[in-house]
Amino acid sequence: MRACDIIEKKKKGLRLSREEIASIVNGFTRGEVPDYQMSAFLMAVYFQGMDEEETTDLTMVMMRSGEVVDLSAIPGIKVDKHSTGGVGDTTTLILAPLVAAAGIPVAKMSGRGLGHTGGTLDKLESIPGFRIQLTGDEFIEQVKRIGLAIIGQTADLAPADGKIYKLRDVTSTVDSIPLIAGSIMSKKLAAGTDAILLDVKTGSGAFMPTMELSRELARVMVKIGCKAGKRVRAVITDMDQPLGTMIGNALEVREAVEILNGEHRGSALREVSIILGGHLIQMGGAAQNLEEGKAIAEKMIANGLGARKFREMIAAQGGSVRVVEELSLLPQPGIIRDVPAPGRGRIVKINALAVGQAAMVLGAGREKKEDVIDPAVGLILRKRVGDEVEKGEALVSIYANDEGKFGKAEKIILDAFVVGEDPPSLLPLVLDTIMEDA
Ligand code: URA
Ligand code: CA
Repeated sequence: MRACDIIEKKKKGLRLSREEIASIVNGFTRGEVPDYQMSAFLMAVYFQGMDEEETTDLTMVMMRSGEVVDLSAIPGIKVDKHSTGGVGDTTTLILAPLVAAAGIPVAKMSGRGLGHTGGTLDKLESIPGFRIQLTGDEFIEQVKRIGLAIIGQTADLAPADGKIYKLRDVTSTVDSIPLIAGSIMSKKLAAGTDAILLDVKTGSGAFMPTMELSRELARVMVKIGCKAGKRVRAVITDMDQPLGTMIGNALEVREAVEILNGEHRGSALREVSIILGGHLIQMGGAAQNLEEGKAIAEKMIANGLGARKFREMIAAQGGSVRVVEELSLLPQPGIIRDVPAPGRGRIVKINALAVGQAAMVLGAGREKKEDVIDPAVGLILRKRVGDEVEKGEALVSIYANDEGKFGKAEKIILDAFVVGEDPPSLLPLVLDTIMEDA
């Protein structure tokens, strides 16, 4: 099969067979199909799309391009959760220990942050000593022993995706539903859990800017997971303003620990973490329905078992437990200073993308994969949409290690906050739920 014939077929909008998809993807992964042909293929997919069957075939081919993790040595229904990425999206650090404390094994491979979105691994690495690289055996042993591990994705997990993603990034072909669905689901299926909860973000700080596109992406991913024999569910959650109030690596660990310790009651981050945790507890078989799952997640905060499980994981992975017992020991920046509101009124909008970019400018995120992260920097939002603000009152506290970067971040923040008279009515935090029987 020649790559150019496959490209030609997709260019004309014809559907590709499983063999054709396997031929071009495997050829590219092995280095036989060159970048320029794969780029043309990806652009053809971008414009012509793929139907559900093609997208499923693409996913399975990418999944099988490397190791498919076998977690069968761990008893029970192993669960995983994936977020399409957002700002102040600290839910994994909160819900993973809550779900594990409820008796459901959480075997999670996470990613690093890229662009304006944060990554769970970078956050965990702000805890001195924490190891995100475990061997496969260590990973399985730890989940068997304490019911929880969060590690970096192994190099051999869906290598086709790694290679294709790099090319998509520089050929303007990231925002294609079949390509995103294939990318995410190939990794999640290769990671080997029995149940997968997908948190698809929508709004200004998300990959998928509109509700229709987010719903379509969620629906396609749930379908693929079900065809692969997994329990899969997707929730579509709001990312129009940042979810948490703390953005930055050590800061997000701090907010997660504070929530596990019973603080920030009623906050959006706490609320979403409880809902997602409730889904996982139900999917793992420890609750009859979502309400019961949420009640169990709440109980794991109230009885302190979630916080204890988080400390157990840190200890198991070599991290300093003292730091989460005494949060002031987390990395601290040289400069902590507020950005005052330029006028009085109510907060009409907080642009999540811009807030993420301000954190990145400070050094909390990376522009390129090679960039080094500063765990101490970031920002704390002092206001949310709908809040009243007086002139001169703090909008944000900036945590910085460099005056120049502070200045740049301050400027971005002043643009990100819109102060006016009539705030919009707030959207619900969870906009839709797509169940496996959809
Ligand atoms: N996240 C992924 O892992 N892949 C995509 O294509 C988009 C978001
Ligand atoms: Ca349904």
